Amino acid sequence: MNDPGIGDTRTHYRNCNICEAMCGLEIRHRDGAVLSIRPDREDPFSRGHICPKAVALQDFHVDEDRIRTPLRRTADGWQPIGWDEAFAEIGSRVRGIQQQHGVDSVGVYLGNPNAHNLGSALFLPRLQKALGSRNRYSSASADQLPHHVAASQMFGAGLAIAVPDIDRTDFLLIIGGNPVVSNGSLMTAPGMPARLKAILARGGRVVVVDPRRTETARLASEHFAIRPEADALLLCALVRSIIDDDAVDFGRVGGMVDGYERLAEAIAGFTPERVADAVGIAAPDIRRLAREFAAAPSAVCYSRMGASTQSFGGLCQWLTLVLNIVSGNFDRRGGAMFPQPALDLLAGAPRQDPARRQPPRSRVRGLPGYSGEFPVATLADEILTEGEGRIRALFTIAGNPVLSAPGGDRLDQAFAGLDFMVSVDIYLNETTRHAHIVLPAATGLEIAQYDVYFNSFAVRNTAKYAPALFAPRGEQRADWQILQGLIACLGAAADDATPESLLDAALRSGPYAEQGLSLDMLRAHPHGIDLGPLRSCAAERLRTPDGRIRLAPELFVGDLPRLRASLDGDAATQRDYPLRLIGRRLIWNHNTWTQNAQRLLKAAGPITVQLHPDDARRLGIADGQMVTVRSRSGSLRLPAEFDTDIAPGVVSIAQGWGHDRPGIGMRRAATQPGASINSLTDPTRIDALTGNAAFNGTPVTIVAD
Ligand code: SF4
Repeated sequence: MNDPGIGDTRTHYRNCNICEAMCGLEIRHRDGAVLSIRPDREDPFSRGHICPKAVALQDFHVDEDRIRTPLRRTADGWQPIGWDEAFAEIGSRVRGIQQQHGVDSVGVYLGNPNAHNLGSALFLPRLQKALGSRNRYSSASADQLPHHVAASQMFGAGLAIAVPDIDRTDFLLIIGGNPVVSNGSLMTAPGMPARLKAILARGGRVVVVDPRRTETARLASEHFAIRPEADALLLCALVRSIIDDDAVDFGRVGGMVDGYERLAEAIAGFTPERVADAVGIAAPDIRRLAREFAAAPSAVCYSRMGASTQSFGGLCQWLTLVLNIVSGNFDRRGGAMFPQPALDLLAGAPRQDPARRQPPRSRVRGLPGYSGEFPVATLADEILTEGEGRIRALFTIAGNPVLSAPGGDRLDQAFAGLDFMVSVDIYLNETTRHAHIVLPAATGLEIAQYDVYFNSFAVRNTAKYAPALFAPRGEQRADWQILQGLIACLGAAADDATPESLLDAALRSGPYAEQGLSLDMLRAHPHGIDLGPLRSCAAERLRTPDGRIRLAPELFVGDLPRLRASLDGDAATQRDYPLRLIGRRLIWNHNTWTQNAQRLLKAAGPITVQLHPDDARRLGIADGQMVTVRSRSGSLRLPAEFDTDIAPGVVSIAQGWGHDRPGIGMRRAATQPGASINSLTDPTRIDALTGNAAFNGTPVTIVAD
């Protein structure tokens, strides 16, 4: 049993909350100190897998750089204040600004860690409601919006995400994803190297499409070095090849699919022969890949960051689903399947036809809103552009968009000019340093844990809860307590709900209620409860009004002319910025907040720009030489690193770095700041269909010092 007490050596079980993989941990501790963090071999989901990052959880708990009390920014620096004083000032300032300038004059930005936090996941909607502002932003539009828009348009709910049934598939096609490093994203799957090797061991194939021969590609049966942002062209050609081969087979969902004729007509022009040059893969190879995929006993295509955070992210995610559906691999064993989580985010979701809804548009650039928020790529515009509805005050909660959003330097400037800013965070970072009041959050081992979101994307159905292991070492509060305080200070009614009471109610009314699933049952099973493998359940999960799948929503079909135009290229851009920039994640790091852990920082090494030696020779650049990388929106100085794994014409910089601005409290990170790729990315480069940031494929040029 979990036991948070002190005295003798005790053992605590919980999931790691650093990345999406939900690895089960066994934590031995005594007198408030961690003795060891090891894999929990009895965890029914991760089955003994962890990565080296998990041991850093103890570092975040004891980190002296954590903010320990509420802080107010003054002319003389940061001044500690009490919680009551902080809430009183926030309530007074925010209500005053809203009374004077309207409710939309106060915005909110939510960072990625909120998705890993039980209390935040359950209480943030309440804060949004209390604020009443339309100006909501989050890291979702820098990361995954295309997945949700595609699911919404095709299945009627943005959270109806189908994931690879990875442990039973015979053919895994990965486009723009590197799950060996990420351990899966929108595919919660700890221990990816072992799962990929298992596919090969049972006679299956793993094919990776990526401009870089990634860590995942090195394990694969075959790797294709595609040109950046050509993934949608490839996907069109794969679907077209299956149609040409007369191999379309809807399989299990055959009676549920509408729009095939419209699809076939819309992609008719995207033959492998037409797109091959732009894609960088020969037409016979594209046709062979399509044939092998369609002929495999089971197959699934998974596309992620490289295919999502680019100019055609929406089309990529739509076409990925289309490929799985027309090849008969949707809602079947070994194909793409819907998880059935115990806390079901689709429960109670209304049946709506998204094609009939016009999205709201952002004030300045008219970008589309989705699910009550606007793209983060336009947040700086909404702060800096005068007019009715301008954002004058901002809440940031567990986020650092100065380093993680496109055009970070402009956001830095925008935040500096806000009338009032409140941040809830664990560190003074590049974003929170601009706040007028910072509220310190508990994290990791200090809070209760249940994965509200990642169970919805998991490759097996399980459920696990852990209480807090340690009390915070300062005056930090759990995020949900802070959110309740904010709600109250804004004058809204806060009730006595807790994360546990809401979780218990959801479990007791969820899909496993008949099996008696409740919070008490989870408490009695600290390793977690296995609820079984994925099973065919599309008929239950679809949220379209008629319960059918929309194969060719007009939103996507109408975006194909933009894709077709990309076949002509852009000669002026190619002349001035002949290289294409892609990001990547380092195996020892996650997001910006993990870089103050000494053991992770040490392992990261210097942040470089990787380029192919042929490009380097042509540009007169030596390995290790300092270079300047320039894009239309900024420049960056960092060392060059030769890498034959990267395709000629492409360069890569790791994301999430650049801790070199004054006034941050992450002292260890500042000793090895690296450089921020988002000083180069351009907030005007977006996927026009979804509004998601287009980080990948940014045109750049490099000059040697
Ligand atoms: S893979 Fe992710 S969840 Fe698993 S131990 Fe590593 S950081 Fe934690």
